[in-house]
Amino acid sequence: MDKALTSSKFARSSTAIGARKRGGRSQHGFQTSAKGAASPIILGDYNQNMSQNGFRLTKQRREVYDALLEQSDHPTATDLFFRVKDRLPHISLATVYNCLETLVLTGLVKQVTVERGPARYCPNIQEHGHFHCTACGRVFDVSIPQSEKFVSSLGLPAGFVVTGYDLTIHGLCPVCSSKAKS
Ligand SMILES: [Zn+2]
Ligand SMILES: [Zn+2]
Repeated sequence: MDKALTSSKFARSSTAIGARKRGGRSQHGFQTSAKGAASPIILGDYNQNMSQNGFRLTKQRREVYDALLEQSDHPTATDLFFRVKDRLPHISLATVYNCLETLVLTGLVKQVTVERGPARYCPNIQEHGHFHCTACGRVFDVSIPQSEKFVSSLGLPAGFVVTGYDLTIHGLCPVCSSKAKS
């Protein structure tokens, strides 16, 4: 993946509905080739987000973040630990957790929880939902409607004010659904 990262100063408020206008240039890419289903991937600016939030740019944090960018398949901390270990043989799982916690705090990375499984991590700071394939376990980024219409379709009782939402859809991915049919 291209590592020329771009900025989004809205990273920290990206869960708020209406935070659709984003500053700065954006890097777009698609995680899956499924037409219409994939959410554009927008990455944060590592150096800017870290220093703005008062965190040091450590080699370990950078390696963990890079590993997440290299294969943005929503890995768990343990997955990332094994990926980073090649380059930083002395890194511990606890350090990987700490790095991830910092990356989440700065808004560079989102924590995604799918069912009862361990937390997974996603570097796409674009507002998006997740599709969890219950057969193969893969997690995909999908676009979710950010509109008043969608919120009103939820039929919430009077007095509830929506400020953001995390959406995970469960089902079968295209590969598994075609296997199921045949
Ligand atoms: Zn699948
Ligand atoms: Zn994601």
